[in-house]
Amino acid sequence: MAHRVINFAPGPATLPLAALEEAQRDLVDYRGTGISIVEHSHRGKDYEAVHAETKALLTSLLGIPDDYEILFMQGGARGQFAILPMNLLPAGASADYVITGTWSEKAIEEALIVGRAREAASTYVDGRYTRVPSRDELDLDAGAAYAHITTNNTIFGTQFFDYPDTGSVPLVADMSSDIAWRPLDVSRFGLIYAGAQKNLGVAGITLVIVRKDLVERGRKDIPHIFQYRTLAKEDSLQNTIPTFAVYMMRNVLRWVKEQGGLDAMEARNRRKAEALYGAVDEASEFYRCPVERGSRSVMNAVFRLPSEALEAKFVAEAKAREMVGLKGHRSAGGVRVSMYNAMEPTGVEQLVAFMREFAKANG
Ligand code: PMP
Repeated sequence: MAHRVINFAPGPATLPLAALEEAQRDLVDYRGTGISIVEHSHRGKDYEAVHAETKALLTSLLGIPDDYEILFMQGGARGQFAILPMNLLPAGASADYVITGTWSEKAIEEALIVGRAREAASTYVDGRYTRVPSRDELDLDAGAAYAHITTNNTIFGTQFFDYPDTGSVPLVADMSSDIAWRPLDVSRFGLIYAGAQKNLGVAGITLVIVRKDLVERGRKDIPHIFQYRTLAKEDSLQNTIPTFAVYMMRNVLRWVKEQGGLDAMEARNRRKAEALYGAVDEASEFYRCPVERGSRSVMNAVFRLPSEALEAKFVAEAKAREMVGLKGHRSAGGVRVSMYNAMEPTGVEQLVAFMREFAKANG
C-alpha cells in the first residue's frame, strides 16, 4: 500500500485513489498495447475511446443537453478569462461581471483588455470578500453580451447557492472550484468553464460547456486556435490535446459515477462541510469563520484563529499528523480547508477531531 497523507490543498488537489491506481496500471502498458496511455497518438483508436468516454460521462453526470458543446481547452481557467471575451464580447458591446473575489477581479481585468465590461455587483469590503451578493443587489445590464459569475471563490471561501437570473443575457460561470459538487441545471448557463485540477482531474485541461448558438455567434476576427468554433468543429482535436489530462478526467468521472453520481457527491460534500463548520462554530471563542453563513463554501472552508502565531502552529501540528495543504491563501491568511469531491469524509472527521483537541489545548 502506498503511503498517502490527507491532502486539503486547494488545487492541484487530492484525487480519488481509484483514479490514480487505474493510471498507475495504464501508464506503462495500456490495455496490452505495449504502449503507455501517454504515448498513444491523440488520433489513434485507443485515445479516441478515452476521449469519447470522457465526454459521455460528462454528458450523463452533468446532464448536458444536446444543444451544448463540450470542449477541452488549454491555458487554464485564466486562459478562459481572455478567450471568453475574445469570442463573446463583440466590438461595441459590454459584458457584466459580478465581483466576488480575486478570480473574478482577474476575469474582468482581461475582459477590459478585449472590450467593454462593467461590475454588476461587488462584495469587496476592506480588502476582502466575505459573501456573495443576493439577487436584488445585482445591477444587471439587460443588453449585456453576457453576465459572468465565479460560482465558488476558492481563496475567500464563499460560494453561490442561488445563481442569478439574467433573463435572456447568457449567464457565464467560472466553476473551476465547484463544478460537479452537486447536480447542475446546465440549461441555465450560456457557458460554463472549469480548470480540471480540483474536482475533475489534473492540471493541463480546461472544460468548457457552451451553448451551440453562442459558439456560432462568436467572433471570427481572432486567431482560429482561440475560437470556440474551431474546437467544436474538430472535437477539441485540432492540435495535440493533453491526452493524459483527458484520460485522468475520465478516471475521476468513472469514480464519480461509481459513487452514485452528483447526488451522492452533494450528500458527501454537505456532510463534510457540516462537520467542518460545526467544529468552527462550536468553538467560536477560538475559531472564527469570516464568511457570512449563507455564503459559506462547501468546497473551501476558511477560518481564523486568535493569532497568526496560533494559525502557524495549527498548520504545523496538523502537518505532523499527516494533514497537509491547510495554510490559507497568502492574500487572505488564516486556515483554508479544501474539501473537493475526492476528499474522503473520514479525512474531514480526522481534521475535526484535531480541531477540537487543538482548541482545548490552546484556547
Ligand atoms: N478561477 C478559480 C475559481 C480558481 O480557483 C482558479 C485557480 N485556483 C482559477 C480561476 C485559475 O485557474 P488556472 O490556474 O487553471 O488558470
